Amino acid sequence: MTGSHLRPAAATDADLLAWCRRRLRTVLPELPSSLDELRRTMEEIRGRRIELTMTDPGRLRLPSGLWGQVRSGAAVHDLVWVDRRTSPFARTVVACHEFGHMICGHEPDPVSTTRPEPVRALAADLALDPAHVAAIVGRCGEPSAPGSPEWRREREAELTGRLLAQHILGSHDRA
Ligand SMILES: [Zn+2]
Repeated sequence: MTGSHLRPAAATDADLLAWCRRRLRTVLPELPSSLDELRRTMEEIRGRRIELTMTDPGRLRLPSGLWGQVRSGAAVHDLVWVDRRTSPFARTVVACHEFGHMICGHEPDPVSTTRPEPVRALAADLALDPAHVAAIVGRCGEPSAPGSPEWRREREAELTGRLLAQHILGSHDRA
């Protein structure tokens, strides 16, 4: 991914928001007007398939959204999963948060360092082999200490995702 702006050292919300706006403009000079357009554009940028899926995980315990990397043969593709048991508005916001991680240049955590429960639950929900889930990042896990790298990562994805979601939801209203 191109355009690696330096992150501001002082992480006030205003600094972070300004950084996220610049980052978004660099990665996506033309904002997409739908989730599918966003998905296709990010596929081109990342040079790999991105699967966006919304399911009802039933009683499985999953956060409202996840970004995982799934191995299929020699290839790895991105999987954005969103809990479908909410409003279309909330689903768009959650999906944009996960794409926000990609836009900010984050990478999901390798599964060996992640708590295994979400991986097992996601794999069960989507009928995947858990061994094929290579990396995962979940939305709204444990609250992390303000200023910590995990906190910063979530904050960046949240702010970037919100900017994206505002545009996509606004496009719906205009249509
Ligand atoms: Zn997140």
